[in-house]
Amino acid sequence: MDSASRGRLVVISGPSGAGKTSVCRALKQDPRVEFSVSATTRAMRPGERDGADYWFLSVEEFARREAAGEFLESASYNGRRYGTLRGPMADALARGKVFVLEIEVQGTRQLRERGVTGTYVFVVPPSMEELRARLERRGSDSPAEIEARLRIAEQELGASGLYDHVVVNHELERTIDEVRRILGLSILGLSR
Ligand code: 5GP
Repeated sequence: MDSASRGRLVVISGPSGAGKTSVCRALKQDPRVEFSVSATTRAMRPGERDGADYWFLSVEEFARREAAGEFLESASYNGRRYGTLRGPMADALARGKVFVLEIEVQGTRQLRERGVTGTYVFVVPPSMEELRARLERRGSDSPAEIEARLRIAEQELGASGLYDHVVVNHELERTIDEVRRILGLSILGLSR
């Protein structure tokens, strides 16, 4: 980021079911933290809101914005497009926020290649068996979808070298504490 920005960029990734979303939900409670709202071409899930969880775009609109250079990074995941919008990030960093991107590993690779400065955190499951068990318990995906996510997870785990910190999620509360500590957010108000 340029030296004029007062905030900090944080990148959080992890295979589907590793606990990344629960970690991010906890971080969202902190007023120093703001989350990037990505654009995506995937369908909205029940309970999601346009502009809050994602900006839900048509394939054509996504391509138009990509051609216009509106994305800091973009990726295809499970047949759908995802991308981080540049505008809101610059704005949040100028306001001194800890700005969090919750993205998958192809996007992280692009940020690393472009030398984007930040704290890169990878949340991983204790094992592939445990990951499968969690996805099955969650019950939000079909058996075929679970197999697809496990295949993607196996590939993603090979990219842990892109990250500054790899956090093994044995137990959620401890994992949340660990991520807060890494980000300097352990004590409310101290980092500002
Ligand atoms: P989901 O469809 O389950 O919400 O997200 C699928 C994957 O895409 C997750 O790993 C999520 O972190 C990632 N993702 C969400 N937004 C972005 C984005 O803007 N860029 C990239 N590269 N990945 C994203």
